[in-house]
Amino acid sequence: MAIENKFPGKDITIEDIKTKFPLVAKKNKNHISKFKISGVEFGSSLVPIFAGPNMVESYKLIMDCAKNVKNIGAHFLRGGAFKPLTFPYRSKKYNETRLDGLKWLKEAKKKFDIPVITEVMEEKFLDPVCDVADILQIGSRNMQNFPFLTACAKTGKPIMLKRHYGSSLRDWLGAAEYILYEGNKKVLLCERGVSVPHTHRSTSRFLLDLQVIPAAKEITHLPIISDPSHATFWNPWVSPMTLASVAAGADGIMLEVHPDPKNSAVDPLQPINYKEFKMLVKKMNKIAKAVDRKII
Ligand code: PEP
Ligand code: MN
Repeated sequence: MAIENKFPGKDITIEDIKTKFPLVAKKNKNHISKFKISGVEFGSSLVPIFAGPNMVESYKLIMDCAKNVKNIGAHFLRGGAFKPLTFPYRSKKYNETRLDGLKWLKEAKKKFDIPVITEVMEEKFLDPVCDVADILQIGSRNMQNFPFLTACAKTGKPIMLKRHYGSSLRDWLGAAEYILYEGNKKVLLCERGVSVPHTHRSTSRFLLDLQVIPAAKEITHLPIISDPSHATFWNPWVSPMTLASVAAGADGIMLEVHPDPKNSAVDPLQPINYKEFKMLVKKMNKIAKAVDRKII
């Protein structure tokens, strides 16, 4: 049965649902995609957690993070060996670790038996990234790089598509359709904050669009992940916005976790430390229960 509302989204019409993103759209009200990635269920009652540093800074850091986030309850280890950095300048500390970083991620994954999500930025690095990643992360800046989406989709790897901070739900779902169009069905959508005039703090570049979680779920069967770290850009707001995301129906949570946030090579204001992560997971469990979901 088609969705009855004539304009299910602000700029999304019934016609769009039928002709622009038929693969991404729900076929009926109860249509929810359920699949497993490396043994972890998506689209069921579980709300998987992706946790780890912003950047795979060093071997030591990623091994330490893998061990700790796994112990605390993360389902996936996150971390970028390739990073979309806003400015081209680099220092020793502020440099991507690229192929070395991928090697370290692979070792951490094996040693601590935790699957990995990591960003791929260029088609030419798809092979080495696919060699370690259980999920390919397509960053917000590449959301509408259509040939790149197609190339990623063709690998058959599960994909998490981050929403660009200026894109509408319609654009985001259109980008996801490119991936499903290639026959790749394991697609996660990730809200990571949008650009708006009022973010309530001068260092906060984005505002977590919590409302897009239920809005997207009215239209698509794909799981919606929330990334409060990139959205808030501010450690003290990560915990409340994570809990709010779970309450709002998020199907997964991405969190930046670093043993020493102040000294994170990238975005030091936003990561939470292990202790904060542990406390947060406890609270997430309570909220999850209240909305018939679970964290572990
Ligand atoms: C990230 O998750 O490391 C990242 C760069 O995110 P975004 O593309 O949302 O900025
Ligand atoms: Mn980042």
